[in-house]
Amino acid sequence: MNEAIYPPNSETDISKNLDTSMGEWRSELKELLPTLPQDVTTEFVYDSNIDDMPDSTEDTLHIGVGGSTVTASRIKLTIDPSKINTPGYNKLIKATFFHEHFHIARGYNHQDSKGLSLLDSAIEEGAATKFEMITVGSKPWWGKYQDRETMLDRVNEIKNTVVDEHTDWNKWKFYDPETDRHWILYRVGSFIVDEALTNSGLKIQDLAVMTREEILEKANLA
Ligand SMILES: [Zn+2]
Repeated sequence: MNEAIYPPNSETDISKNLDTSMGEWRSELKELLPTLPQDVTTEFVYDSNIDDMPDSTEDTLHIGVGGSTVTASRIKLTIDPSKINTPGYNKLIKATFFHEHFHIARGYNHQDSKGLSLLDSAIEEGAATKFEMITVGSKPWWGKYQDRETMLDRVNEIKNTVVDEHTDWNKWKFYDPETDRHWILYRVGSFIVDEALTNSGLKIQDLAVMTREEILEKANLA
């Protein structure tokens, strides 16, 4: 049974609508990702400040949704319930739902994926980002990247950066104030995955069952 957990103060209308949407989304995902586990729990967190990240997407400014894959069978979505009827908001939730389920299908989650390199994380985030972009049509800024030369430099930069207990993951994942760069890992990963798709002719969902090494090999960046 796919379970959804809502905050205690959740309005019935909102929970019901989300339940309906998630039922449809799960049918689509089952077709795309055969390795998805039978049961995935979705926990909702309501946060009216979630739109604090102003330009989080290209086509829906000032409207945010947060997501994380907590365990092998549990995702967490942070949404602003007051935005639920805003045009485009349901699609944003869907995109995040798809993104986190792609992580689930690959077995990538906070609990089990400790000790990865920056490159490993970039490939995971890039693949999930491209999955939501291609299958849902979302346009997150972190799926957009600079020219090829810049991106090859970035690939080398993260390849040459060793992760240790002092590594500031926020800097690599979200924002590096020192260099004023956003979403470095997501952008590098989106670049690598795009290269892999172009060179191989594979579909994004095919990457759900490939190792990170195989994806990198298909990208053929050397
Ligand atoms: Zn992710």
